[in-house]
Amino acid sequence: MNKIKQAVLTMDVEDWYHLDYFNRKDCNEDYSMLDGLNNYLEILENYCIPSNFFVLGELAIPLKNTLREIAQGKHEISSHGWNHKRPMKLNLQEFKNDIIKSKDVLEDITGQDIIGYRAPCFSMDRNRVDLLIEAGYSYDSSKIKFTNHPLYGDIDLFGFETLSPNIYKFNNFYEFEISTEKILGRNIPVSGGGYIRLLPWLVMKKMISSYLSHSDLYIFYIHPFEFSFKKNPIFPKKSKWNEKHRFSFGRESVTKKFQFLLEHLKLNGFEFTTFKDMINQNEYK
Ligand SMILES: [Zn+2]
Repeated sequence: MNKIKQAVLTMDVEDWYHLDYFNRKDCNEDYSMLDGLNNYLEILENYCIPSNFFVLGELAIPLKNTLREIAQGKHEISSHGWNHKRPMKLNLQEFKNDIIKSKDVLEDITGQDIIGYRAPCFSMDRNRVDLLIEAGYSYDSSKIKFTNHPLYGDIDLFGFETLSPNIYKFNNFYEFEISTEKILGRNIPVSGGGYIRLLPWLVMKKMISSYLSHSDLYIFYIHPFEFSFKKNPIFPKKSKWNEKHRFSFGRESVTKKFQFLLEHLKLNGFEFTTFKDMINQNEYK
C-alpha cells in the first residue's frame, strides 16, 4: 500500500562491552568506543538525512549533551532497554521495569516523548510486545526473520494487520520488521552493520538490490563500535577467536561501504525517514 519507497537508518546506541558475546564483567569499561556515534552523525549531517537512535537507558546521562543535540535535529531517539540485558532472560516484571525506566530517563534528557523500542539481540516475544503497549510505547522494531540465530526471539503477531510486507499494526501500535532477504533458503539480514562489514560490497549490493526490488521499506541497523576510529579493545580473556573476528572484521571499511549503501538507496528512489515520521504519515494512521 505504501507508494513511497522509504529507508530507516537505525543505530543501537550501546558500547562494545554491551555486546552479548563478551562477558561484561571481564571487560574494561573505561575503554569506550562511543566515538563511533559522532562519526556516524557526521556522515548523516553530510548527507542531510535522519536516523533513529535506539539508546540504552544507562547511557542516557553520560551521553546527555549528544542526545539533546540529536533530539533537536530531524532524528528520533527511542529506547534499547536499560543495560542490554536480553528481554527473554528477564521475567515479565523485570522487563516492564526495564522499559519504563529507560523511557523515563530518555524523556527527561531529551524533553521528548519516547515512543519506540528495540530489544537487545532482537530477543522479544508477544507478551513483551503487549507490555510495551501497556507502558505507552507506539512501536517496536525487534522483529527479524532469522530463525537460525540462537539469541533472537520470535514475536507472534496474532491480531496485527499487515500494512506492507514488513509493517504490522495492532490498534495504534506498530511493529517494524528488520529487512532480511531469502538467499539459498536462508534469511540473511541485508540490513545489519555486521553483514556490511563482513561481506564485500558487491555481494552485499546484490543482496540488497534483490530485497529493494520487492520492498518499499528498508531498515538498516548498526552500532557505534562499528563506526569507531579507535583500536579494538583488549578483549576479555575467554573470548573466542570467532567472536573477536566478528567484532573487528571490516571496521576500517564501514564508512566507505555505508556511503555506498546510502548512494545505492538514493539511486533506487528511497527516501530517508524515521519511524515516528512514518507513523505520522496519513497513510499509516
Ligand atoms: Zn544492542
